[in-house]
Amino acid sequence: MTRTYQSATDAPARSLNDTGPGFATRAIHHGYDPSGFSNAVQPPVFLTSTYGFESVAANEAAAALGGRLYAREYNPTTEILEQRLANLEGAEAGLVVASGMAAFGTLILSLLSQGDELIVHKTLYANTLAMVEQAVPRFGIKVVAVDLSDPQNLEAAITERTRLVFFETPVNPLSRILDIAAIAERAHARGVKVAVDSTFASPALQRPLEHGADIVLHSLTKYINGHGDALGGAILGDAQTLRTLHETGLRYITGAALSPMSAFLILRGLKTLTLRMERHSATALAVAQALEAHPAVAFVSHPFLDSHPDQVTARKQMSNGSGMLAFGLRAGYEGARRMMDRLNLITRAVSLGDADSLIYHPASLTRARQPIRKDAHLADGVGEDLMRLSVGLEDADDLITDLRRALDAL
Ligand SMILES: *Cc1c(COP(=O)(O)O)cnc(C)c1O
Repeated sequence: MTRTYQSATDAPARSLNDTGPGFATRAIHHGYDPSGFSNAVQPPVFLTSTYGFESVAANEAAAALGGRLYAREYNPTTEILEQRLANLEGAEAGLVVASGMAAFGTLILSLLSQGDELIVHKTLYANTLAMVEQAVPRFGIKVVAVDLSDPQNLEAAITERTRLVFFETPVNPLSRILDIAAIAERAHARGVKVAVDSTFASPALQRPLEHGADIVLHSLTKYINGHGDALGGAILGDAQTLRTLHETGLRYITGAALSPMSAFLILRGLKTLTLRMERHSATALAVAQALEAHPAVAFVSHPFLDSHPDQVTARKQMSNGSGMLAFGLRAGYEGARRMMDRLNLITRAVSLGDADSLIYHPASLTRARQPIRKDAHLADGVGEDLMRLSVGLEDADDLITDLRRALDAL
């Protein structure tokens, strides 16, 4: 596997010295050689749970090598996806699993042990937050939540027992931006590894390893698949760590294998990632600017808006702003509920990164969950008025019209 790669949207797309293919080309072709598969232009889907061997000795040889014995740890379709994603992130190796949560679970349960400490940014995707608050401490792993918007805060938080620093950027749901290079530099100075959940950006816009991170996580369910029809997760990084995640994490700790059918769908979605991220970013910025100009709107957050507090860091580590934005209304919690019910085009739904625009109101969902989960609460920094909008691939004018109509009626 090659470590050479170019960025998706840097201009010029490749320097004169670069001979390898560009990002968009690799998103379509890397890791698949049709000549090995009847020249099928699209990769085949191997729906098999196990693999036969010519002899007992061949079976033993495969087992000794870590094995292509069984579909939990090996499948040709998912392997193409792993190689392609690793290449796009500039990683030595990759592992794909059943969902983004499976990726986080596999990472934590494989690399950390009782007595270890995990540092996380104080604001996280709701279920990652639930895992580090409710589950991880039950296994004797101490979780320390830190405000990494000031990377200096790491200094006091790191101890001899710290094994990993984990954060998202852009951060769900407000799309605040954390400085990957500044955090990685401080963590590495103390011998601690850094893992970044880059789901909100995708490798087309941001490649954390280029900024010093050690491991990248993705929910493939979101932009990388991009069509809202499959769940998946990925972990990308150095070959040695990935071998551990594969050989222990996936094989027997979580067993959270990705379906080969989902791997096929995600490979298909990935082919248009470059184009989609350009359009998601452009449309989201237009929608964000339109919202900012509306008198009913109290705030708008999108990483490439001039008003965004982390705009400089965003432009340093992302080639575009992505399709996620957050906003709140002067009419607060009740206003958000009223406005959302008036939308006709934008779908009220959780999830993100689909061709369809999706909007959700974390505070309403959190209140609705409290009877069944008493500890449900909003992440630090998330207000009761906040709505998260995943801007899809519809015409920008249609989305703006839908939002304006709902806002004007407030
Ligand atoms: C959705 C999401 C996850 C979890 O991924 P699933 O595929 O839904 O399990 C983790 N992190 C972020 C930032 C997400 O948006």
